[in-house]
Amino acid sequence: MKKYPVAKPYITAEDKAGVLAVLNSDQLSLGPVYKKFEKKFAKKIGVKYACAVSSGTAGLHLVLLACGIKAGDEVITTPFSFVASANSILYVGAKPVFVDIDPLTYNMDPLKIEAKITKKTKAILAVHIFGQPSEMDPIRRIAKKYKLQIIEDACESIGATYKAKQAGTFGQAGVFAFYPNKQMTTGEGGMIVTNDKKIYEICDSLRNQGRANNDQWLDHKYLGYNYRLDEMSSALGVSQLAKLDFMISERRKIAAWYGNILKPLSNIIQAPVTAANNTHTWFVYVVKIKNKKINRDLLMKNLKKAGVSTKLYLPSIHLFDFYKKMFGYKKGDFPIAEAVSSSSLALPIYIGLTKKDCELIINALASQIDKLNKVK
Ligand SMILES: *Cc1c(COP(=O)(O)O)cnc(C)c1O
Repeated sequence: MKKYPVAKPYITAEDKAGVLAVLNSDQLSLGPVYKKFEKKFAKKIGVKYACAVSSGTAGLHLVLLACGIKAGDEVITTPFSFVASANSILYVGAKPVFVDIDPLTYNMDPLKIEAKITKKTKAILAVHIFGQPSEMDPIRRIAKKYKLQIIEDACESIGATYKAKQAGTFGQAGVFAFYPNKQMTTGEGGMIVTNDKKIYEICDSLRNQGRANNDQWLDHKYLGYNYRLDEMSSALGVSQLAKLDFMISERRKIAAWYGNILKPLSNIIQAPVTAANNTHTWFVYVVKIKNKKINRDLLMKNLKKAGVSTKLYLPSIHLFDFYKKMFGYKKGDFPIAEAVSSSSLALPIYIGLTKKDCELIINALASQIDKLNKVK
């Protein structure tokens, strides 16, 4: 059988021409292209300001700083995410306080937030996992009631909507990421979006060594960082953004094929669920194996031998060693997140997969599950 990777970027001749034009221009950083990328991105998402940064993680770090989150503060978030969302809270010296997830969408369960609010709580960091937004109305109600800020980690959900509103536009600021496995890529890169001028200005300064906004190159107002996005990456961003709608519609087509092929297998494999208020942009296509006795890791290994690469999405953050050591978290603290972590895997999803490929991949999955069932 053909070999299937889990993810693959979609790079066209236009992407290459854009990057090459920058290389021929002699201006490889802090030129006109990152500004152009920001302007187009802000327009696309429908916000006033966009601030290009070197990664999604860098963007989260800057937003937390700009929101004034600091040592001693608590930030409510989900344990079922890529580690960067919780790590960014640690970068500013604050404490990530986890709440368990919804068993169908795998996003933070809003019903579990209020019990975790203390006098130290300053913000809710909502992560829109796998390509669909968190349930933002109840999150916004709680934030208003307790005067908390909302920060959105939209790194996996560019273009997705909740009640027809774009992910990343519900709180003080949102962050997107462009690592090569995301829906669009700049190689490495990220983008902060906000309607708050002050947040934008602080992020703009901090990404460039805390430079004052007065053209005095060496006047440093704050302790800043080098989180700039270079011009080659920005050029890739401009051309990728121009085909984002196409790339999302291709991902939706593949997800719909998978969904149809999985229907008759619903007693053994749980397909992803899109909440009624949401549109999904399919960063990953994650299925859950229903038989808890199946050794998921062995299943992934066997699939790999059969030519289908899969990926563990995602381990629960509270069970990483340093989180356990720092905060005393243990197995059983967030049972829904842990159950999803131990039984799910991401299937290949990238532009170029055909319906036939999807059938072959699901056939391989079903037959490997069958084999493992027989071993028992
Ligand atoms: C990809 C991702 C990020 C940011 O990743 P970078 O590699 O730093 O760009 C942050 N949070 C989540 C949930 C992600 O999936």
